[in-house]
This record gives sequence, structure tokens and C-alpha cells, in this order.
Amino acid sequence: MRFLVPVSIVSGSLLVGLLAAAPTQAEPIEPPVAVGSVDTRSAKPLAGLTIAIDPGHQLGNSNPAFRDQLARTKFNGTITKSCNTTGTATNSGFPEATFVFKVSRTLKNRLERQGATVKMTRTTNSYDRYGPCVWKRGKFGAKVDADLLLSVHADGGPASGRGFFVIVPGVVAGWTDDIAAKSQRYGKRLIAGMAAAGATPSTYINGQTLIWNDVTTLNFSDVPVVLVEVGNMRNAAEARDMVTRKGQRAYAAWLIAGVKAIFRR
Ligand SMILES: [Zn+2]
Repeated sequence: MRFLVPVSIVSGSLLVGLLAAAPTQAEPIEPPVAVGSVDTRSAKPLAGLTIAIDPGHQLGNSNPAFRDQLARTKFNGTITKSCNTTGTATNSGFPEATFVFKVSRTLKNRLERQGATVKMTRTTNSYDRYGPCVWKRGKFGAKVDADLLLSVHADGGPASGRGFFVIVPGVVAGWTDDIAAKSQRYGKRLIAGMAAAGATPSTYINGQTLIWNDVTTLNFSDVPVVLVEVGNMRNAAEARDMVTRKGQRAYAAWLIAGVKAIFRR
């Protein structure tokens, strides 16, 4: 997420792969069940939680038509940064914006199936749209009264490195002092949950954790926030998985395990 990488897009038609809606089944009519005889918690382990998912970037951030909008800036408590960036891509040109959007949509469906309320900072992935700006994404968690803001990204790291890591806020007085400790704790639990589920811990970030004071999405958040770089798009082996539905589902499954570990569900 840290590098501006020019992404050449042939057209806006990369937005495909529409997810099938969750299967709907007619509920068989059954006699009333005595209260207490059904363990609803195990069926809906995430009931009562609101999760805000922030799929990083937007496909149209690479559209020159939005250059001025993306160049707008805001102070984030540490430094002044721009509205948003293009994000990275695989060497074959599969954009981070598209990858994290697909993973996030699968993640949303699965979290909802397990009882969570899920809100997304963006519900489109289009070459004809930009943003939203990172400060709006940061504020989104509080806006929807979320228990967690999970920002989903993929890294453009060294080609030899692979695996996931998190970026969590440090203490920035007046900005993150209310959420830094809890966000860092949640980051640790997310890492443990994802690793236990089989995700590859980053081979190039010590402890799979960066505590940064200058990430706008993190600094603008007023609810616990974790940015996760789910993998390295510049690693050939990882990129091969990222472009497939099977691979995208695996990344979503690892994030589910991480979220459940955060809330000890
Ligand atoms: Zn990113």
C-alpha cells in the first residue's frame, strides 16, 4: 500500500467476478423449540458485532480523470497526506484495488453468515470512481459504530518476500491515544488467528507488525483499527493465488479466523 505504482488498465471491465448471493433456503416450518435448547451462539458466533471493512484504494484511482481529487490533502496528526493512491499490483497487472475488493466482499458475506453486521467503506470497484479519501475511511468505523475497522490491503514488497503483516497506530496525542493500545492488541490477536488458520506470516516484517504514526486511515479512526497487508503482490507464488477465486477465498478465510481471534469467538 505504500508505493505509487502506475497500473495500466485496458478498460474498466476488470470488475467482474460477481459473487453469487448467499444461498437462500426456505426455512422448514418446525414446532417451537424450548428456549435454551438451541446453542445460537455457536451458529452465529459473531452476533452482536459490527465490523467495518475497508477495501484499500479504488480501481479508478489510476484513472487520470481523478488526478486533482486524489491530490487533495489533509493533515493526519503527524504529516499531511493525499486523498488516496493507486495501490500496488501483481507483476502481471492485477491491481490491489480489485484483489482486496474481491477478498473483502467474500469476507463480508462470511462474517454476516456468522452473525456480524458488516459495513464497507466502498461498495464498488470501478475505473469510473475514485476514493473515498483515506480520512473518510478512517472516520467510517465510528460513523457506523463499529467494534473494529479492518482495512484490507496487499503489499508491493520485495519479490523474495511473502506473507501477511499488520500496520497498527502508534500513539499520536489527540488523535489515536484513545484507540492505539486496543488496536495494537487486536493486531496481535489477528496475527495469531490468521497464522493458526494457515496464513503465511510475513517473511520480511519482524513480528508481522508495523506500528506507524503517520497512516491517515489509522489516525482518523475513533474505533480500534487494524490495517492488514494480506500478502505480497510482487511475490510470484503469492500472486498466482491472488488472481484466482480459490486463492481469494483462502485469504478471506484467514481474515475470518483473525477476526474471530480478535473477539475470542
Ligand atoms: Zn494498499
